Amino acid sequence: MALIRMVVRAIMKNIFYGAEPPWGSKVKWQIVNRDLDYLIYRHYDALKDAVMLARDLQVRMVSIFSLLDDLCWVTCPWCPDPCCLAARVWIDFKDLLFLHLAGHPVPPEQLLSDFKESCRYWSPRGCMLPRISRPWVCTWHLCPTQKVNLRRKAPSVQEKMRHAVQRITAGRKVMETEFIRIVS
Ligand code: SF4
Ligand code: SF4
Repeated sequence: MALIRMVVRAIMKNIFYGAEPPWGSKVKWQIVNRDLDYLIYRHYDALKDAVMLARDLQVRMVSIFSLLDDLCWVTCPWCPDPCCLAARVWIDFKDLLFLHLAGHPVPPEQLLSDFKESCRYWSPRGCMLPRISRPWVCTWHLCPTQKVNLRRKAPSVQEKMRHAVQRITAGRKVMETEFIRIVS
C-alpha cells in the first residue's frame, strides 16, 4: 500500500503546471504511463466506474468529431498561420487517464519537451494523432475563423457542440476524482 501511495504521489506531482510540460522527457513519459498501467491493473475491479466514465466520455467526444472535421476541412488546409505551431499545450493528467481507462493508444511522447518547442505531432498535412488521442484542449479549441463558421450553422448544431463540450469537460473531472478516490 505504501508503494501505491508513492506511485500516486509521483503522478500527481506532475499534474500541476510548472516550468516545463509534465512528463516532457521520454523517460518521465515512460514512467508515468508504466505507473498508470500498474495502478489500473492493481485496482482493475474497483475502477469499473472510472472505466465506464471514460467510455461515456469517448461516446460524447466521437459524437462531435464529424462537426469538428467539417470545421477543419474548410479552414485548416489553407491556414497561413497554423495555431498548432504557436500553441503551448500538452497531454494533461485527465487526458492520459482517459486514454488508459478507455484503452486508446497513448502517443509515444508528450507533445512538447519544453515550452520553446512546437508540438511534435504537427505536420503540414495536419495533426498526426487520431482525434481521440489528442489533448482535450486540441478538440474543443476553435480559432476565430472556425467560431464564425460554427455560428453560421443551425442553432441545433451549435447547441449540440456547446452541450457536448460542457458535458465532456465536467465528465473528465468526475473520472479523475473517481480514479484518485480508488487508488489513493
Ligand atoms: S484551427 Fe484555425 S488557426 Fe488553427 S490551423 Fe485551423 S484554421 Fe488555422
Ligand atoms: S496534438 Fe495535434 S492538434 Fe494538438 S497541438 Fe499538436 S498537432 Fe495540434
